[in-house]
Amino acid sequence: MTTVDPPVPPGLERPDLPRLPVRLPAPAPGWTERTDVVVVGSGIAGLTTALSLREAGLHVTVVTKVDIDDGSTRWAQGGIAAVLDPLDTPEAHAADTLVAGVGLCDAAAVQVLVREGPARVRDLIRLGAGFDRHDDGTLMLTREGGHHANRIVHAGGDATGAEVQRALHAAVRRDPWIRVIAHAMVVDLLTSREGRVCGVTVHVLGEGSPYGVGAVLARAVVLATGGMGQIFDATTNPAVSTGDGLALALRAGALITDVEFVQFHPTALAAGAGPGAGGAGARPAGQLPLVSEALRGEGAYLVDGEGKRFLLGQHELAELAPRDVVAKAIHRVMRAGGLDHVWLDARHLGTGFLRRRFPTIVGYCRAAGIEPGEQLIPVAPAAHYASGGVRADLHGRTSVPGLYACGEVACTGVHGANRLASNSLLEGLVFARRIAADLARRLPVGAEPDLDATPGAGSGREPAPGDEPKPAARAAALRRAMGAGAGVLRSAASLAGTAAVLREIGAAPPEPGTSGWELANLVTVASAVVGAAYARRETRGCHWREDWPDADDAWLGHLCGAIAPDGSLTQTWRPAPAAAT
Ligand SMILES: Cc1cc2nc3c(=O)[nH]c(=O)nc-3n(C[C@H](O)[C@H](O)[C@H](O)COP(=O)(O)OP(=O)(O)OC[C@H]3O[C@@H](n4cnc5c(N)ncnc54)[C@H](O)[C@@H]3O)c2cc1C
Repeated sequence: MTTVDPPVPPGLERPDLPRLPVRLPAPAPGWTERTDVVVVGSGIAGLTTALSLREAGLHVTVVTKVDIDDGSTRWAQGGIAAVLDPLDTPEAHAADTLVAGVGLCDAAAVQVLVREGPARVRDLIRLGAGFDRHDDGTLMLTREGGHHANRIVHAGGDATGAEVQRALHAAVRRDPWIRVIAHAMVVDLLTSREGRVCGVTVHVLGEGSPYGVGAVLARAVVLATGGMGQIFDATTNPAVSTGDGLALALRAGALITDVEFVQFHPTALAAGAGPGAGGAGARPAGQLPLVSEALRGEGAYLVDGEGKRFLLGQHELAELAPRDVVAKAIHRVMRAGGLDHVWLDARHLGTGFLRRRFPTIVGYCRAAGIEPGEQLIPVAPAAHYASGGVRADLHGRTSVPGLYACGEVACTGVHGANRLASNSLLEGLVFARRIAADLARRLPVGAEPDLDATPGAGSGREPAPGDEPKPAARAAALRRAMGAGAGVLRSAASLAGTAAVLREIGAAPPEPGTSGWELANLVTVASAVVGAAYARRETRGCHWREDWPDADDAWLGHLCGAIAPDGSLTQTWRPAPAAAT
């Protein structure tokens, strides 16, 4: 049962959600390591934090679930937004960011982002990231939806994330004092008797060393675990994006906020099952490649099952309408026709042109057996970016001492109700540096932490291979229910339907093993999203309620979620300061 503390906007309703675990079942740690700071995650946020902490002379351990480059960072295409053109200004970047956030951005956090952003991009260049340049050596700056100036730096055309990840990884490899534990899933956070986060329990998989469940004790923990796209059946996020950081923070007593604001990309390639589909069947699911707006910009159009252009007449820009408008229209056509996807018709552009202009997209299509110059391209909306997350202040501090959050897992307030394109990589860079500076100033010195419980003692056994299949099937059911009821278009009825599935899946106690732990995290994060989406009875930013189709000023504020000691999800209401509007 979800409870809501006053004051709240009028007419607030509560969905019935499962009791959530306050700790996951795991054996007592078989090994222990010590470090100054544990960073969980190795994308732009985690690696930038680790490198910045080293500049402050601190010892760092980075724990990452699979390989170092398996997060969303390497998939980023467009680029990083920052004021680098003399004709552009931080005020203009802030204004664009605030418009996208529809009244819910934190104005101070936005100022930090736009003012410190340019220096952080220059740091990245000094570190070795090679961005695209003109013949005279100046940076190429492009423009994306919602920006009123050319301020997006990019690399390899549309391969920015891969270059950023490469440069950061190379820098980390050069520093022997950054210990990286790969193929290692953080299971839970450790807390001292004083209520301070003081380490993690971690399960190291086959390729890692040492093996099994252990503990890394530290004086602070930085969550940099990325997004939660994998709570939905179709997502652009990689398989590791299961929202673990959000669930870890909730179990440690931290507040999360704005999690109802999930951005959907309208056109992901809906052919076959991508990584993370987990037994979803033939329906397109898991990580789906992006088919960018640029293809529609060149004249490709969307058609329904009868070959009819359904966006004509719905918006003056038709297929080039804003992302959420296109995603909503596609979702309605799919629902009305019982379809898994609609189609993008690019045949009239010709194979030669498509191959020259969109080699990456043509490659994705061909890998799926589609020749886009001759055949229709199946596309569907896919969960793309989490605007909300673990509530963090201007120094990345969460509501729990010793716990920090950085990057997509955090909610610093820079995105509000919707993220402006290419502000997310920038957020990781800017706040990583701030977190390191704060830790260098404030990190407690002294005695070994007095843990408030022996981690995992008696609450689980070493995971066995037989643990895996059941959680995978339940995870697939959860993702389908989230896509159907809590995705692009939501209503009280659709969210209640999803909540019922979550109650059923969440009724069984969590099982030990990575897929069991991940399932518990999926249930926790999905419940938080459904609870907030159900409570917010308006349409704002990327949260679309069919039964409440307009924005309502009574909802200018934030829903903050937490887990009570009995496992129930609680919500508190925090009105937005007037300055943010
Ligand atoms: C297809 C695509 C295109 C995009 N394009 C752009 C763009 O052009 N510009 C832009 O600004 N943004 C873009 N984004 C968004 C941006 O890429 C992400 O917001 C950003 O990379 C997130 O970085 P991060 O460091 O927070 O997380 P990630 O890069 O996702 O890294 C998360 C890390 O946490 C680890 N992890 C997770 N859980 C655990 C656990 N339990 N234990 C241990 N480790 C764990 C993962 O293994 C991973 O290493 C795009 C995203 C996608 C998916």
